[in-house]
Amino acid sequence: MKPFDRVLIVDWSGGNDRGPRPKADAIWAAFNDTPAEYFRHRQAFETWLMTVLEAEIDAGHRVFLGFDFPFGLPEGMAKPITGQDDPFAFWNWVTERVEDAPKRNNRFDVGAEANRAFEGVGPFWGNGLARDIDGLPRKGRSRTAQVTERRLAEADAKGAFPVWQLAGVGSVGSQMIMGLPVLQRLRLKFGDDISIWPFDAHDTAVKVVEVWPSLTVRSQAPEGMVKDAWQVETVARQIAALSPREQYDLLHEDIPDAARAEEGWIFGLGQEALMMATDLKPPPLSNDCFALPPGHHWTPIEDAWQILQDRLRCVVPQQKTPLAEAQGYVLAKDVVALRSHPPAANAAVDGYGFAQSSLTEGDQLLPLHPGRAAAGVPLQGSVPDGFAVRVLTGAIIPDGVDTLVLEEDCAINDTHIAFRAPVKKGANMRRAGEDSEAGEVVLRAGRILRPQDIALAASVGVGELTTFAPLRIGVLSTGDELAVPGTPADQAQVYDANRPMLLGLARSWGCTALDLGHAPDDRDALREILNRASERCDMILTSGGASAGDEDHVSAVLEDTGSMALWRIALKPGRPLALGVWNGTPVFGLPGNPVAAFVCALLFGYPSARLLSGAGWAKPSGYIVPAAFKKSKREGRREYYRARLTPNGRAEVFASEGSSRVSGLSWATGLVEMGFDAEDVNQGDPVRFLPFAEFGI
Ligand code: AMP
Ligand code: MG
Repeated sequence: MKPFDRVLIVDWSGGNDRGPRPKADAIWAAFNDTPAEYFRHRQAFETWLMTVLEAEIDAGHRVFLGFDFPFGLPEGMAKPITGQDDPFAFWNWVTERVEDAPKRNNRFDVGAEANRAFEGVGPFWGNGLARDIDGLPRKGRSRTAQVTERRLAEADAKGAFPVWQLAGVGSVGSQMIMGLPVLQRLRLKFGDDISIWPFDAHDTAVKVVEVWPSLTVRSQAPEGMVKDAWQVETVARQIAALSPREQYDLLHEDIPDAARAEEGWIFGLGQEALMMATDLKPPPLSNDCFALPPGHHWTPIEDAWQILQDRLRCVVPQQKTPLAEAQGYVLAKDVVALRSHPPAANAAVDGYGFAQSSLTEGDQLLPLHPGRAAAGVPLQGSVPDGFAVRVLTGAIIPDGVDTLVLEEDCAINDTHIAFRAPVKKGANMRRAGEDSEAGEVVLRAGRILRPQDIALAASVGVGELTTFAPLRIGVLSTGDELAVPGTPADQAQVYDANRPMLLGLARSWGCTALDLGHAPDDRDALREILNRASERCDMILTSGGASAGDEDHVSAVLEDTGSMALWRIALKPGRPLALGVWNGTPVFGLPGNPVAAFVCALLFGYPSARLLSGAGWAKPSGYIVPAAFKKSKREGRREYYRARLTPNGRAEVFASEGSSRVSGLSWATGLVEMGFDAEDVNQGDPVRFLPFAEFGI
């Protein structure tokens, strides 16, 4: 089945024109990717819907079209009215009778006419009009006919109303009577392009599905928004967020026979948690999350790490990702083997199989059993004792075989093979489940998925993974002196090297990199940029202006929010790091010098991005190698030198420690990490080398 491209959810109404201004209890419709639209009456909606569906079909799209009224009557209840069990006979019956205009309709009369098909007072009840209608009681208890009150779906869905009630708060009978004719016209107009769930089994461009927002919308509408609008938007988003596999399962599984044949069913019933899980998003970070303990002047780097590790947590929602697209995503749920790998014992070589117990001492001569076992084509029947059979790599081990001998170790003619004993029982075979056992956890949540991890999930039959949505990292450069590379610049200007560098880092980390451009040294402009950026970013990296000077606007505006902490980390390169929370989004104010910006992005940005993305904290450990340099380091701070390994595995460092020397960054393949204390390093002394690969690049 082709997955749905769009989901359109409609909150229906059985009433009259609600006027031009958006109101509750009218018709509201929302696609998963558009705000809800208001329709004052059914006629306006129907015209719109026909146009929209035509456009979607023309575009080759598949549309999930949900309506919130019952598509059928309780089992056996349509037959007295139409003479048939077929739900579409009832749709037709209603369509032939309903008269609908913006300001008047005959829904109560249609209900009354249906009632007259029953012995005694029929099932429909409730009259919203002043005039009495023959055959339509005002109260449910006045009914005397044999009535099946609820469909199976209503029996399961707590709080759902029976179809029979035509008036009163929450009733759905009128909506059904006024809705079925519209659906019937859709069927006529779109023919083979439309199907009705769950009655029609086939798949079409448009699938019309019964939904019930109260089932899965538990959140309140935001202030000032009409509840119906909120509900259709939410349901549309929930359904669109299901994976194609989940959508398929919800449409095809566990629907009772009577519902499928006659009554209809509510999409997602029994699977509410699955649908609601899709709009769970962790709450934003609190404003004080970067506060330092009082009394700190210079923060040791370990303390800085500890604070980040304690205060940051995953901020991205979960999603489903098809296996083939999963590389670089963070796994959000453990992967459990759906079946063993291999599922059955199979051959590890091309050769011959037999029962080991049939071997004798010394040289062996075994007659050949006809046929062969190949990968994907098992041998039919079993191999008698004392016979050998041809077996190819990957073939399921035939019955009667428990040992294989390599083809290269055999002399072969048309009828026999000869080889030397002994051959160990079970030789040259792969045991069932020797790689992975069904039910075993093969990959743990938090892993950043690599191609080989994806192969492992595939080998145990898993086709889709629950991953975290990629962290959206915004990158902003600040400073009046910056010029865009590729454009002319005067001598006073500096080409913006940090922005493309940091965007590249974000991408290497498997995150979505968002270019926030370049901010002038102006606080209002900066605030405006951060306001907009915090709406669409989960983390913001800025560079420049992070210190405490006059032109250090990043720290100044972060300071205004009260959320800022200026971290003076005992570290070279890297001056103060300005950390703040802007509208819930953490902002890492990196130094402007490219070398310091890069090193701070690796040391603080990388592990923080991992935590925020659900991958967990990671401290690079590197390895110890002999130094290919000589240096005297002073006490009181950590130092990181741009470094690379020589062909004989020694660490050499870049000639200059200048913090603006971008060439050294490009030259290096990692960093040499020096401790807090004073130290004299001589050629051959052990030093710690941290390859860039340990920082996700
Ligand atoms: P700041 O941290 O703003 O005082 O900047 C420190 C130094 O880094 C200054 O020399 C800036 O010109 C330079 N700088 C700031 N931002 C960038 C950038 N995006 N690309 C290259 N150099 C920069
Ligand atoms: Mg600056």
